[in-house]
Parts: sequence; structure tokens; C-alpha cells
Amino acid sequence: MADEFDLFVIGAGSGGVRASRLAAAAGAKVGLAEEIRVGGTCVLRGCVPKKLLVIGSHYHDDFQDAASYGWRQAEAPELDWPALIRAKNTELDRLHGVYRQLLDKAGVEMFDGRAVIAGPHTVRMGDRSFQARHILVAVGGWPTLPPVPGIEHAITSNEALDLPELPKRIGIVGSGYIAVEFAGIFAALGVTVTQIFRADKLLRGFDEEVRSFLGEEMAKKGVHLMAGRKVREIVKRADGALDLALDDGGSVIVDTVLYATGRAPNTKALGLEAAGVRLAENGAVIVDAYSQSSVPSIHAIGDVTDRINLTPVAIAEAHCLVDTLFRGTPRGLSYENVPSAVFSQPPVSVVGLSEEEARSNLGEIDIYAAKFRPLKHSITGRDERTLMKLVVKRSDQKVVGAHMVGADAPEIIQGLAIAITMGATKQDFDRTIGIHPTAAEEFVTLREKRGD
Ligand code: NDP
Repeated sequence: MADEFDLFVIGAGSGGVRASRLAAAAGAKVGLAEEIRVGGTCVLRGCVPKKLLVIGSHYHDDFQDAASYGWRQAEAPELDWPALIRAKNTELDRLHGVYRQLLDKAGVEMFDGRAVIAGPHTVRMGDRSFQARHILVAVGGWPTLPPVPGIEHAITSNEALDLPELPKRIGIVGSGYIAVEFAGIFAALGVTVTQIFRADKLLRGFDEEVRSFLGEEMAKKGVHLMAGRKVREIVKRADGALDLALDDGGSVIVDTVLYATGRAPNTKALGLEAAGVRLAENGAVIVDAYSQSSVPSIHAIGDVTDRINLTPVAIAEAHCLVDTLFRGTPRGLSYENVPSAVFSQPPVSVVGLSEEEARSNLGEIDIYAAKFRPLKHSITGRDERTLMKLVVKRSDQKVVGAHMVGADAPEIIQGLAIAITMGATKQDFDRTIGIHPTAAEEFVTLREKRGD
């Protein structure tokens, strides 16, 4: 007789773990299968290790800036890369342990190994079979590599987080979140970074001014940006270096090439199609507003659904799903005003609409923006600037977008996201007293409309 569950979750990433714990807390009998390690992309191969490397790499500038504030160092500090990687991995092991403990305490039954769907209510792991009233697919995504000759010499973000040694020269292909984040990390660590991308600017889909501004700031930090180009071929030379042949006839010689050209849902050979689950062309599970697939007992959340591929979104989808299935309060998630951050150097953070989106969707808008050198750099002399921008719908004065490029942008935008979610107007921003001296206060002191 097969084991029986109310919910069987495949994938112990942020979404799967949260759904398992919440469902168990609501009284459901929950099974959870994971083939790699509990934690998923965010904890093990994404947000957390990346952010630790961003923090680690920033010390380079901090040491330099400290001198302007009177700190003398006998010798210039030097990076022990393996020590940084070890420290990061120790933290990941700790988090992995915490996740497992939380699941144990919640009474979730864990299974290590690959699970596949064998029917609307059946999951198979090797020769074991489980029956479940509901199955949740939360298997996330995986980096994709385009079919470029020599692509076997490329690494993805998975390997970039664990390089045994730091390369002297790195080529980074792509201009999305991952590409710009790693360009920042490696450049700050002293690696010569060349970023090659096919678009005219970084971060397609972001506010155009943000895109231009970030490019200028990254170039100042030494990232060599090669826009409007593609790698035609990667050739490994006799000395081990990689020759990246570009479509414009040029070439770039590097020691390592990192491809950050997107991620695809992890749905291959998972038994979904055979069970009748409809998939999108890129393999994403097609779900309705309640995260239900075309098979009523099979649900999916997180990156595998390719809606908004961010950890807090997957977690929020997990909450909605458990409310729907086990708490008698069906609800779907609102995908409006989801704030996000790119941990580039300097970081970018945004909530709401870009100027271009607002103009084409809402008609008349007002733009308030400021560009300035942060107080810290009045003494260091570092040529680093901050951009802050508000997009306001003219008819009702609602703030529909807030954008920032500069130190602490993600910390600042998180608070503004609450105001914007609540429907704050420009006048609400104006009557808010600033905190002085901060960069954040600019958001409540922006008075001049662009063009005024
Ligand atoms: P993105 O989809 O953000 O960017 C992919 C990049 O690869 C784009 O620059 C795209 O170019 C380029 N590209 C795609 N195909 C090719 C190709 N064949 N040849 C050359 N270039 C190509 O993907 P990422 O891998 O950066 O990140 C995946 C997702 O992970 C993000 O969208 C985000 O949802 C999530 N993420 C979030 C983070 C955060 O919140 N801080 C951090 C990291 C990831 P083009 O623009 O021209 O299409």
C-alpha cells in the first residue's frame, strides 16, 4: 500500500519549504522531496551566496574610502578568496540545517532524492510510490546556455559562486539581473570584467534612465561594457585562455566566461506532460490565479511557473496556495507593485511602473528625479552618483513608480513599496518629514517636476 499524503511537495526551495510548513501547520499530512539539498536556488545557488559575495567584494572600495576618512593602513589588505568562499559555504550549511530543522519540527516528512509525477495523485521515487490528495510542483529553474560553439567552456552562476580561484579576466555574457550582479562582484574583487550583451543597455525592461545611469556607474567602476554584441564562438587556446569571438569581428581574451543568459523551468522528465499537465513553450507549468495546473490536483508555485521569478513571490504564492487548499480561504496573489532589487554595484531597486510603462499605460504623468553625489563621497572624492526617481500619475497624483540606483537602494525602496501599495499620492510623500542627513530623504523632498 502506497504512503498517503494530503500534500506532496516536489522541490525544497523557498516556495516548497514554505508551502510544506504552512500546510503541516494547518493540519495536513505533508511529504517533501528534494533531489539536491534543502534550500533551493535562493539559499544555495542564488540570493544568499550572491549577496554574501556582494558584501565581501564591497570591502575593496570601503578600504580605499577609509583612507579619506583618516584611516591609515600599514599594508593594503588583500583578498583571500578561498577564505571568502569557505565563510559563505559555512553560512549556507547553517541555513540548510535550519531549514531541515524547521521542516522536522513542523512534522513534514522529508525524502532525499528525485521524485517524478506518475499520475494526478501519484508521485514516484525510485521503487517507492506515494498517493497524495494534492501534489505541488516547486522545482524552480536552472541556468540555460545558448547553442554557441565552444559553450562547454562556459560556466553559469552556479559555478561562479564556487570558483576554486579568482580569474584575472572574466567575460560575462548577458545583461539581466545575474550578469550585472556578477560583473559588480568580480570588478570589485579586482578582476578585469568585460560584459558582452546584445541589447543597447543593461537590464532590459527597467526604466530607461535607470538602465543608462547604471551603465555609466558600472563603467566608472571599471566594468568594460560591450553593448549590441554577441559571442559567435568560444575557442580555448593552448595557454588555457578563452578567446571569445564576437559577431562584429572583434574578440575578447579571458580566463573564464560566465553565461547569465536566462533560466528555464526545471520540468524536464518530471512526468508532468504524461499526467496531463499543460506546459508553456519554455517548459513552465501553466497555472491559474490559484496556482492550479490544468490537472486539478496538481499545483505549481515559484520559478517553475515563470510568473515573477523572485523568492518573496514564491513564498507569497505558497501562502495563498495553503490558504486555498487547507484553510478554506481561497486567494490568489496580486502581482502589482512587486518591488525588486538588483544587487549590482551600485545597487538598483524599483517598485511600480517605469516612466515608459506609465506613459504608455496611464497617459499623462509627472516625473520627479534627482541625481547627486552621496555625502560619503564628498570626502572620498569618489565619482559615484545616486539616482532617485518618482513616477506620478498626473490625474490623481498617485505615485505609481519609485526607482533608485545607489547605495542602500533596496533598503530604501522596501519602505516606499508599502506606501505605493497603499496608494500614496505625491502630496503624501511631500507631507512626510525627511530623516536628515540621508539619501532616503530625497524621496520626500523632490519638488521640481521634470520639465518645469
Ligand atoms: P534575465 O532573464 O534577467 O536576463 C537574461 C539575459 O540574457 C538578458 O540580458 C538577455 O538579453 C540575455 N540573453 C538571453 N538569451 C541570450 C542569447 N541567446 N545570447 C545572448 N544573450 C542572451 O536572466 P538572468 O539569468 O539574469 O536571471 C534570471 C532570473 O532570475 C531573473 O529574471 C530574475 O527573475 C531572477 N533573479 C533575481 C535576482 C534578484 O532579485 N536580485 C537576482 C538574480 C536572478 P536581452 O535583454 O537582449 O533579452
